Amino acid sequence: MSCDFQALAVAGVRALSPYQPGKPIEELARELGLDPAGIVKLASNENPLGPSPKALEAARSALADLCRYPDGNGFALKARLAERLNVTPAQLTLGNGSNDVLEVIARCFADSSSEVVFSQYAFAVYPIVTQAIGAKGISVPAKDWGHDLDAMAAAVTERTRLIFIANPNNPTGTVLGREAIEVFLQAVPERVLVVLDEAYCEFLEDGSQDDSLGWLSRYPNLIITRTFSKAWGLAALRVGYSISSAEIADVLNRVRQPFNVDSIALAAATAVLDDQDYLERSQQVNSAGLRQLSDGFRSLGLNFIPSAGNFIAVEVGANAAAIYQSLLRQGVIVRPVAGYGMPEHLRVSVGLATENDRLLAAMAEALREQGDVRSD
Ligand SMILES: *Cc1c(COP(=O)(O)O)cnc(C)c1O
Repeated sequence: MSCDFQALAVAGVRALSPYQPGKPIEELARELGLDPAGIVKLASNENPLGPSPKALEAARSALADLCRYPDGNGFALKARLAERLNVTPAQLTLGNGSNDVLEVIARCFADSSSEVVFSQYAFAVYPIVTQAIGAKGISVPAKDWGHDLDAMAAAVTERTRLIFIANPNNPTGTVLGREAIEVFLQAVPERVLVVLDEAYCEFLEDGSQDDSLGWLSRYPNLIITRTFSKAWGLAALRVGYSISSAEIADVLNRVRQPFNVDSIALAAATAVLDDQDYLERSQQVNSAGLRQLSDGFRSLGLNFIPSAGNFIAVEVGANAAAIYQSLLRQGVIVRPVAGYGMPEHLRVSVGLATENDRLLAAMAEALREQGDVRSD
């Protein structure tokens, strides 16, 4: 008799379902025999501009040193980030994507006796990192698809160690105002760490993207996480970071893998911070794309959740799975969000104008097909 290794996994892990990423272009091309070049992927909130030339050049230069371990302290990247954010390098913790930082935070501050609070419809990584360490996830019902901060503060118990908040949130695109977050931070006991996940903050159009940095000195239990995967266009390289007190960063740095960010990623991320033009183009393309998609969805008679991110959750109804499949057949990949408890929505990332047009045309066709099915 062989052992039941599944049963040997710790309880939280036994109950875990893996993170569902967007379908890769190559996979759809293989499945349907399509030309990858003709496929439009609007499924993973990636930057449609392609990488910054400055980042590419730095990545190429870093190849010469592939035989060496990376700088485990990320000196150059932290120095450049610290300057940009007006914090000290000691307040920064680098991660293999911000997902890595989120996991390290959970492992440092929670265990099987802890509760971790997050919102319904919030980023899927929060329940995953919570369950993986055997902690109890408390999912607080959303309000208008967004975080209900009063209810989240009320959900704090003696056992609560961590609260995850995504602002803007993925997959809903909802955003919390400055005052609401400050009221929340005042209400939460200092022994409970609050993680403000700002993966999409660069896309905020009201100039509020760095407001949270000012709260760090007043709320020592605050950890802000950010990423190079979205507005900075380096998703493949996996670089994210947190900004916290130096004391919290010291704890996180004990647990993270010593070389969790590789040399190519460090070089590219450091270089891209000097490409302000790339960031601004990312923001412009995103603003224009959000408008284009919103107008397009309205013309198609579809409701959607107004978004502050680089994606829109559009309500396509009970046939969402069939519409998703129809879009795939037409060479357009979007993201089903039934796994988030949103079975009637699809999440569409903002692409270039031509890509958004392809999506809208394919959506119109998918809706027509569904209409035909219904009237048969
Ligand atoms: C995309 C995303 C991230 C970033 O993930 P990386 O690991 O940095 O690529 C973090 N949080 C949210 C809510 C996201 O949508």
